[in-house]
Amino acid sequence: MQAMILHQIGKPLVFIERDDPQPGVGELRIKVEACAVCRTDLHVVDGDLKDPKLPLVPGHEIVGVIDALGEGVDPARFGRRVGIPWLGHTCGNCPYCQMKAEKLCDRPQFTGYSRDGGFATHVVADAAFGFDLDKDADPLSLAPLLCAGLIGWRSLKKAGNGKRIGLFGFGAAAHILTQICVWQGREVYAFTRAGDRAAQQFALDLGAVWAGSSQDNPSVPLDAAIIFAPVGDLVPAALKAVRKGGTVVCGGIHMSDIPSMPYVILWGERELVSVANLTREDAAEFFPIASRAAVRTHTTVYPLRQANEAIADLRAGRLIGAAVLVPEVG
Ligand SMILES: [Zn+2]
Ligand SMILES: [Zn+2]
Repeated sequence: MQAMILHQIGKPLVFIERDDPQPGVGELRIKVEACAVCRTDLHVVDGDLKDPKLPLVPGHEIVGVIDALGEGVDPARFGRRVGIPWLGHTCGNCPYCQMKAEKLCDRPQFTGYSRDGGFATHVVADAAFGFDLDKDADPLSLAPLLCAGLIGWRSLKKAGNGKRIGLFGFGAAAHILTQICVWQGREVYAFTRAGDRAAQQFALDLGAVWAGSSQDNPSVPLDAAIIFAPVGDLVPAALKAVRKGGTVVCGGIHMSDIPSMPYVILWGERELVSVANLTREDAAEFFPIASRAAVRTHTTVYPLRQANEAIADLRAGRLIGAAVLVPEVG
């Protein structure tokens, strides 16, 4: 197999070749077709998330075809296309697993963090966390759905059923969620970095009714806001933008510190909540909805060996939509 490996926090990934991994009991091996790059990968590489497995193959928005089965896995799955997400394994025994809240499992494994991920030609995954995907769809287009899409969907569920939804940070997740919201008949208000006209135009092209910078005021109170950018300063900005009783959802796994703020912007029964991980239930709901809503992801494709360039472009905000890595053919 070929892979891009993180040996040390803060260092570039290194291209390697080594023996193909073998699936253990209850596991699958996937021949990777595409793996999208998520902001969480930046947090892993930068050390914002503590104690990753090292050396590590990052990447948790994996689409591929099952090419080997471990013991105990249904033989009918061989050759099927699956997606592998961030939540790679749950213990099944802790109090959270027992109460069917696997997103909060005390002993989880995360793809591309505590187990090897998809910046590679092959990856081994827990068969229970490989979601069947449409064999006829474009794998490049599917890959960003595995995290940006699923976490976007989970965030939207937390945001409630309001009509006016603010999205802070207009990257991979927001561009998918905008299409879902428009399909549901909601109004999307897109908040970007100041002066990021390209992202604002991209939001409007996807059907947002308003786009501006995070300090601008859309002049109507929002029912809910979802923050995808890892910027704590956006929390008070989003709270100010939502109406009484409205909800602000923090959709990221990491955020810079939230500044102190006057209580009055939370008062009025506004709610501030976070989202932790996806669940298999989210996937069962989301993939059919993404298909019905005819979600089209906007991708920039990089050969696997250029993972460092993809990471740098994501970090610098040079991307529209999502970066996707593809193994070289041959
Ligand atoms: Zn558990
Ligand atoms: Zn992710």
